[in-house]
Amino acid sequence: MKALVVHAGAAALREVPSPEPVPGEALVRPLRMALGPGELPSAGGARSGTVIGREFVGVVERVEPAPGRTVGASLVGKRVVGSAHASCGVCDRCRSGLSAHCRSRVTLGDARPGCCAELLTIAAANLLEVPPSVSDDEAVLAPAVAAAVHIAGTVPGNTRPFISVLGDTAEGLLVALLLWRRKETVRMLTAGPVASAVCEKWGLRHRPLNEAGRRQDQDLVIETAGSAASLITALEFVRPRGRVLVTRACEEPACVTPARDITAAVLRQEVELCGVRGEDFPGAIHLLKSASVQLAPLITRRGTFVQGPDLLNALNPADHLRVVLAAPAR
Ligand SMILES: [Zn+2]
Repeated sequence: MKALVVHAGAAALREVPSPEPVPGEALVRPLRMALGPGELPSAGGARSGTVIGREFVGVVERVEPAPGRTVGASLVGKRVVGSAHASCGVCDRCRSGLSAHCRSRVTLGDARPGCCAELLTIAAANLLEVPPSVSDDEAVLAPAVAAAVHIAGTVPGNTRPFISVLGDTAEGLLVALLLWRRKETVRMLTAGPVASAVCEKWGLRHRPLNEAGRRQDQDLVIETAGSAASLITALEFVRPRGRVLVTRACEEPACVTPARDITAAVLRQEVELCGVRGEDFPGAIHLLKSASVQLAPLITRRGTFVQGPDLLNALNPADHLRVVLAAPAR
């Protein structure tokens, strides 16, 4: 089968062996695949030889039965989305309800082949059926929506905090939108025109980051960029004894983390620094089904799977929120 593989910092269409599901796994044929800016070849995050892609909507071709488990059999032929993160289901953390913190957690497009291929295998337990009213373009954004629903769910609903969201990311924009719809006092601090344009379309309160006063007066700052510089910026906005949510690990290849600056600011202000990385897929499907969020502005470029290498290799990550590829026609 054909797959988009990264070699020496560039994507290429390569012939690779078709994957075989092991017991408990589903074989899925992607219909649409979405790539975030950090997954674009020029971002430098992908290891050479990796099939890229974490976000997909696809059709389940078959599920390999697992002894004693019936999960997934009913999904055959169904259109599905799913988490790129697979947990083992048997370690101490999985058994105690902390599967997001599984000791053997692996991610599509990283420790296992990604979804930019004619077929992928994934744990059937990770998959969720997509209702017919949700389009492929909406469904492929379900992982970003699932992350945003989870992050927004960690913000208490009755305290009326002042909230700033940092990072020009699809997840950050969606979190700001969900909190604004909850009538929270929230603003998006944008670094570039792409995120500002989405705020305009959605009617979200926003300011350019370099124009906002760093007065350390925000009750909550949600940092979604995943850079040390952005975390330090977040600490310049949060009030003493306020809270900073970190939603993405720093993936900068050449990051020299100024841990000294971060710990000094956290300590001086007695800031609560909290990591949030879960996903609420049922919540995301519920939101998509309600058709109350216009997701189209988050798709900044689209193309076909075959165009993938030419398209992806030419893109600057700073200009994009999600690049969506359509699967080859059968
Ligand atoms: Zn586990």
